Amino acid sequence: MKKLTAEWDNPLFTQVQTQFEAAAQKLSLDDNIFYRLRVPDKALMVSVPFRNDDGSIRVVPGYRVQHNDTLGPYKGGLRYHPNVNLGEVSALAMLMTWKCALVNLPLGGAKGGIQIDPSLLSRGELQRMTRRYTAEIVNFIGPEVDIPAPDMGTNEQVMAWVMDTYSQLHGYAIPEIVTGKPVIIGGSLGRKEATGRGVVYCIMEAIKTLNINLDHKTRVVIQGFGNVGSAAAKKMIKSGTKVIAVSDVSGGIYNADGLDYGNMRAYIEKNRTLEGYPEADAIKNEELLCLECEVLIPAATEDTITADIARKLKCRILAEAANGPTSLEADVIIQDRGDIYVIPDVLANAGGVIVSYFEWVQDLQNLFWKEKEINHRLWEIISGAFQTVHEFSIDQKIDMRMGALMLGIQKVSQAMLTRGFYPG
Ligand code: NAD
Repeated sequence: MKKLTAEWDNPLFTQVQTQFEAAAQKLSLDDNIFYRLRVPDKALMVSVPFRNDDGSIRVVPGYRVQHNDTLGPYKGGLRYHPNVNLGEVSALAMLMTWKCALVNLPLGGAKGGIQIDPSLLSRGELQRMTRRYTAEIVNFIGPEVDIPAPDMGTNEQVMAWVMDTYSQLHGYAIPEIVTGKPVIIGGSLGRKEATGRGVVYCIMEAIKTLNINLDHKTRVVIQGFGNVGSAAAKKMIKSGTKVIAVSDVSGGIYNADGLDYGNMRAYIEKNRTLEGYPEADAIKNEELLCLECEVLIPAATEDTITADIARKLKCRILAEAANGPTSLEADVIIQDRGDIYVIPDVLANAGGVIVSYFEWVQDLQNLFWKEKEINHRLWEIISGAFQTVHEFSIDQKIDMRMGALMLGIQKVSQAMLTRGFYPG
C-alpha cells in the first residue's frame, strides 16, 4: 500500500489511519472506497491575520478539513490549540465521519482549527482572530455544506462570533451556520452539556452490562475539566457516584472522599485553573490516570494514555470522552490485559454531535424543543448505539473500538456504493 506523504505527518493521523486500515481489512472494504476514505475530500489551509491589543498584527495558520459528505453535510468542531496542524485536523474530521454514521445522523465529517494557545489571547484578540478566520473560510462552509461547532479551546462565545461574522457577510441572520452557540441566538437547550451527558449515558449502559454496583462508593477519575470533563463530573456526581480526582492543564487534584462540583466550578471562575484548590491534595496528571477507580474518563487531549500508563491503569471502565486519548500501543496493551472495558471515543463522545444535529434541525425549522425532550432523544440514540456496538462486538469477537469503527465505516461505504460513482 502506498504511504501517505509528510504533510499528514501527525501522531493522531497515524492513529486514526491505522485504526481505519484495520477495520477496512476486517470489512473487506472495496479498494476504491478504501483509497477515497483514507484521505479527506477537501482541505482548506488559510493564514489568519489579526490585530493584537498593542496594535501590531500577527498571522496564524488555520484549517478546515472536510472528510466525507456521503450521508449529509459536513459537520465538525473548531479547535484552538498550539498542536493543531493539517494531520491533526484531518484525523479529527475522519473520526467525525465514522461517529455521525455510527449514531445514524444524516451528516458527514469535518473539523477546523487554528494553531494557537487561546489562553494567551485577550477577549478582543480572540474575537478578532475568530472573525477573520470565519471570513477566510466563508465560501467553504455553509448551513447546507459544512456546519462548525465548538471543540477544544473554543466555546459558545466563539460560535456566536462565527455566526455573527458569517451573517454579516451574507447580510442577514443565519443561525444554522454553527451549532453550540448561545441559546439566545438560536442555540439548543442541553447542547453545552451534551457531550459530557452522552459520556455518562454510555457509562451507565456499561455499568449495567458489567453488573457493577452504582453507589457513593463508585469512584470516578476525570482528566480535563473543560466543557466535556466538567459536564461529565457534574452528571456523575448527580448519579450518586463520587468523583475522587480531576485535572486540567495545571495539574490534578485528589480527594478520596469525593470532590464538590460547585466549589470546583467557583474556584475555576476565580482562578482560571484548579491549581491550589484547597479541598484536595495536588496530584500529577500521570498519577491521576493510574488511580484505582471504577471509571476513568480522559476528557483532555489525544495520546494521554501511553503504553507505560496503560500497563498501570487501575480502572474497570475507560470512557474516552476526548478524541484519540489512547495511543495505538496503549490500546494493544489494554486489549491484552482484558480487564478494562473501553467505551471508544467515536461512541462515548458522540453526544456532542447528536445534540448539535438537534440544534441544526431546530434552527432550520425555527421551532425549538424542550430540554427534557432533547435529553431523552439523546439518551435514546446513544444508549441504542451503545447496545448495537456491544452486541456486534460480542458477535464478531472483537473489541468495542473495532466494533464501533466497523459499523460506522460500513454504513458510509454502503451509502457510497448506493449513490454510485460520479461521473461514472
Ligand atoms: P476544553 O478546551 O473545554 O477543555 C479541555 C480541558 O483539558 C481543560 O480543562 C484543559 O485545561 C485540560 N487539558 C488540556 N491539556 C491537558 C493535559 N495535558 N492534561 C490534563 N488536562 C489537560 O475542551 P473540550 O471541549 O472539553 O474537549 C475535550 C476533548 O473532548 C477533546 O478531545 C475534544 O476533541 C473532545 N470533544 C469535545 C466535544 C465538545 O462538544 N466540546 C465533542 C466531542 C469531543
